[in-house]
Amino acid sequence: MRKLLICFIVLGLCFCPASTFAQEEGLTLLAKGKYFSIYGYRQLDIAALLQKINFTYLGSLNNLSSRRNNDLSSLLAEAIDNLYSEVSDILDIHVYSYHGDLKILSDQSSLSSVFRNYFGSGFSERSFYLHPRNTIYASFRDLTEGMLGHEIAHAIISHYFVVPPPAKVQEVLCGYIEYTILKKSKAAGR
Ligand SMILES: [Zn+2]
Repeated sequence: MRKLLICFIVLGLCFCPASTFAQEEGLTLLAKGKYFSIYGYRQLDIAALLQKINFTYLGSLNNLSSRRNNDLSSLLAEAIDNLYSEVSDILDIHVYSYHGDLKILSDQSSLSSVFRNYFGSGFSERSFYLHPRNTIYASFRDLTEGMLGHEIAHAIISHYFVVPPPAKVQEVLCGYIEYTILKKSKAAGR
């Protein structure tokens, strides 16, 4: 189960909502779906990202790298929306009006820098959900479908309940989501 504990949720935080930091300002909008606006660093390979989250389009990933950026952006938006719907179905919690940000940093070190900007200390995990900003942060290098599903579950749970459940309760639920997604991926041979 230790492998499942790859995230960190921040439910409450005292900071200026208007503040942004250099690490985040360097991100560009990659795609805008129904449920997420997706930002990434300039050189981010969207085709590689789609493969990391096991997105299958018309049954094949073979031609992804030859697609134009606009095509890839729409596929990315679709992939993240699909994952959101899958997590909602597993949780049986549906927040149809939800929209948040997903920010993808290049690696754990960049992720840790963002975390340090908010909290003043480093961070050793590969992703986190920051509820006051309604934003998921993730390291591209370490990103997996299960990890993203885990963080999306935090976002859904935190928006569904008037008072978000305590972090430990959320970790149990989100760990279950991650486990279920991993199991489905393995069963599908992905
Ligand atoms: Zn978590």
